[in-house]
Amino acid sequence: MTCNKCYSSLSVCRDCDGQTRKSILGDTLTCSTCRSTGYLCPTHDGHWQ
Ligand SMILES: [Zn+2]
Ligand SMILES: [Zn+2]
Repeated sequence: MTCNKCYSSLSVCRDCDGQTRKSILGDTLTCSTCRSTGYLCPTHDGHWQ
């Protein structure tokens, strides 16, 4: 996975562990840090798409 803007390697979002955390109801959490992509660009954070 790479950033669509700068082609840097993406890192797994630290706030949602790459969207692996689930709510109590089993739903995928909405993550504002990575914009629910599960990944972060070192430069663009969640705005890599
Ligand atoms: Zn980027
Ligand atoms: Zn996240």
